Amino acid sequence: MSGETLQVYFLGTAGALPTTQRNPPCILVRHGSDTLLFDCGEGAQQQMMRSRCGFTVDAIFITHWHADHFLGIFGLVQTLSFNGRTDPLTIYGPEWVCEFVTILKTVARFNLKFPLESVELANGSWVRFDGYTVTAFSVNHGLPSLGYILEEDPRPGRFNREQAIACGVPPGPLFGRLQRGETVRIGTEDESRDVQPEQVMGQARPGRKIVYTGDTRAVHSRIMEIAHDADLLIHDATYDESEAGRGAEFYHATARQAGEAASALRARTLVLIHTSSRYTGADAHISDAKSAFSGPVIAPDDLDMIEVPFRD
Ligand SMILES: [Zn+2]
Ligand SMILES: [Zn+2]
Repeated sequence: MSGETLQVYFLGTAGALPTTQRNPPCILVRHGSDTLLFDCGEGAQQQMMRSRCGFTVDAIFITHWHADHFLGIFGLVQTLSFNGRTDPLTIYGPEWVCEFVTILKTVARFNLKFPLESVELANGSWVRFDGYTVTAFSVNHGLPSLGYILEEDPRPGRFNREQAIACGVPPGPLFGRLQRGETVRIGTEDESRDVQPEQVMGQARPGRKIVYTGDTRAVHSRIMEIAHDADLLIHDATYDESEAGRGAEFYHATARQAGEAASALRARTLVLIHTSSRYTGADAHISDAKSAFSGPVIAPDDLDMIEVPFRD
């Protein structure tokens, strides 16, 4: 998995209501050959076409059961079936995900050509994929709601070729075995010794990490342990600072609160999402967030893509 691409497509960035420029929330993450959807707002299919992401979806994670976050699933599963999908598809989500999938199957008259499954997640639940894990965390949105953390496994440290030669390992296949974490034996039958991978490999390097809060009031003080040090923190930023009162009332965050969360969690880049339809631009949101966070702040338009590089 060490060379996998990690791309985040913002298929929908609106809050609550669509606008002519923005669709309701839908984030498509491509990790290597895997495609995961985080929320699936109305119109997701057309956004998938416009972004040229295709319809190969391996799993869907829903943050909560407000309609702006799930209405796109109805059309999407019908299309997947129409296109001949036979692989199972799992929809992960908080409490009520099983009821939702039952409704979905009922609406589809149980006529889907592939198994549609549901898995309920709670705070700390995790789902394992090849080389990375998606972990759920509780947020504060007035109903059962989850955020998600996609975190890659640590990568092995760098191989120190000079050190290996100094340890007496001849260049060749033994180098590869050490890099794969195997102990190798060198020398002759009469006089042999082992070289351990730790002698020639540097410190393990952290994998990449994306945190998506979904809709929430600021919750960073509760999720410090698991959500720190993300390459991308994608945070609810429904309101600008002039409407902080509405944010608190409706269980959303302001862009400044998103900035405070990014600072507290030591995020590398902050992404503002779920912008209320009352705003025509994101300039105020960006400057509000920057007043609390010194790192890069992005307010993506629909169909923008961010590629997350390795840290070194
Ligand atoms: Zn919403
Ligand atoms: Zn909501």
